[in-house]
Amino acid sequence: MVFATKSPATGKELGAVEATPLEDVAGVVRRARAAQEKWAEVPIAKRIKAVSKVKKRILERAEEIAQLVHDETGKPDVEALLGEVLASADVVSYWAELVTEELEPFEAEIDALSYPKKRGWVHRDPRGTIALIMPWNFPFALPLRTIVPALLAGNAIVFKPSEITPRTGELVAQLFDGVLPDGLLGVVQGGGDVGARLVDADVDLVVFTGSTATGRKVAHACAERLIPCSVELGGKDAAIVLADADLDRAANGVVWGAMMNAGQNCGAVERVYVDKSVADVFTAKVVAATKALRFGQDVGPLTTEAQRRVVERHVAAARAAGAEVLEGGEGIESEATALGYRPTVVKIDADDNALIADETFGPVVPITAVADVEEAVRRANASRYGLTASVWTADVRLGERLARRLRAGVVTINNHSFTGAIASVPWGGVGESGWGITGSPLALEHLTRPRLLVVDRNRAPRETWWYPYSPTLRKLALAFAAVRGGAASLGARIGAIIAVVGLLPKRMGELKTGKPRES
Ligand code: NDP
Repeated sequence: MVFATKSPATGKELGAVEATPLEDVAGVVRRARAAQEKWAEVPIAKRIKAVSKVKKRILERAEEIAQLVHDETGKPDVEALLGEVLASADVVSYWAELVTEELEPFEAEIDALSYPKKRGWVHRDPRGTIALIMPWNFPFALPLRTIVPALLAGNAIVFKPSEITPRTGELVAQLFDGVLPDGLLGVVQGGGDVGARLVDADVDLVVFTGSTATGRKVAHACAERLIPCSVELGGKDAAIVLADADLDRAANGVVWGAMMNAGQNCGAVERVYVDKSVADVFTAKVVAATKALRFGQDVGPLTTEAQRRVVERHVAAARAAGAEVLEGGEGIESEATALGYRPTVVKIDADDNALIADETFGPVVPITAVADVEEAVRRANASRYGLTASVWTADVRLGERLARRLRAGVVTINNHSFTGAIASVPWGGVGESGWGITGSPLALEHLTRPRLLVVDRNRAPRETWWYPYSPTLRKLALAFAAVRGGAASLGARIGAIIAVVGLLPKRMGELKTGKPRES
């Protein structure tokens, strides 16, 4: 089967892409698995050398990559350059520098008195073969955030890009041409059916980024197979603007946070709670900054027709509930595209409205005036999502205190959501925003699994806790319980210590002969 997509930016056909037949998916996974077994044996320095080559390729092809991302998603190419190309080159150098130390085995703590002559080390083994299923909104940067550390950690990957951005997906894989063993990074193209087949194939971990609805299906399928998954899902981020905030900075930051990538960002500002004493001034600044945005240069069209319909439905729902559309609120049709939507500001006071409760994923910023900080925190937390949030205030201490009360995986004070591009910090959410973590060494938690290796140099014929069980062993166990805190008094504890000293030689004798003694 072949599928085609039109550029949301120009409406032109982008050229057909071959979909992977469903029955071929298992074969791609098999090849990846075979390659992974050898790759895991390649010394880490060699793996780093291979993967590091990709950084130069990204930077050399910066313009071409940004153009392709623009063609497939409609986002301004400068956004693609900053958020996808440069950020991805940084991902390669970050992991190349860090991964050796992070994967170094570390010695496990084993108490030498209780467990004599034993030492243990914790190794971080690769998971094996990872299914990587990605959305269309950051089609270059998001897959690389996982591909780079996953490969360095010794895994194989089978990557399914979104069917909206298959060419960018192919380009991501091409960057590794000639630097990896054949089949180690496989690509399967197609829609949800191909994704579902991949999850059901012989993979060891699924790393999924996408909508909450699909993430739930993926998590179900993984639970059936008892394999782990990482799901990074949607968001409905709140920005809280306090009375003492720098209102110019807050307005500009909120507008960027809401409109960047035409709002098609999991960490977009999708709700603003502003102190009522500054609500009018702040809102006027947001409207002015929104009006100044240029269609095509600052904000592109929506990427898909389906997405435009969601945005229209949410704005209509808000209007029906009496909300005031202060700016925008309608589509923009140009010669090039019918998918434009005017950056929109809505004044609204309703919690159960679609525009406030559901992920909009469009260039719309809903503003709600609140009586005080408590109301702002309560309403910000009243969401099933919990990806990122921001607090805008001159009082950083207060901001930090509020941040700790917000139900979100990332909270920024006087900024919003920009950290998604930084390789060294964790990104992830709570609630229906999922539980995946990318960025920072914490990302290795799911890309590797711990293996404890213990070496025992004890030459005794038996350990204290081995057979034979005996009354002496029982008394010893009770004496230990008293010594470790179970004794009712200091005197009882001292008595227990004396008992341990007396019982240990008896137990040693039993262990030597293998015969229990009556004691
Ligand atoms: P979708 O959930 O629709 O799709 C995500 C991926 O899953 C696509 O590749 C899709 O294929 C595939 N897929 C669809 N059905 C299945 C299935 N049954 N089994 C396995 N895979 C399947 O998300 P979108 O592509 O629309 O992306 C937008 C969403 O992603 C938003 O909700 C956004 O918030 C979220 N997101 C979250 C991020 C985070 O870090 N938390 C970051 C970026 C986006 P196809 O598209 O080809 O149908």
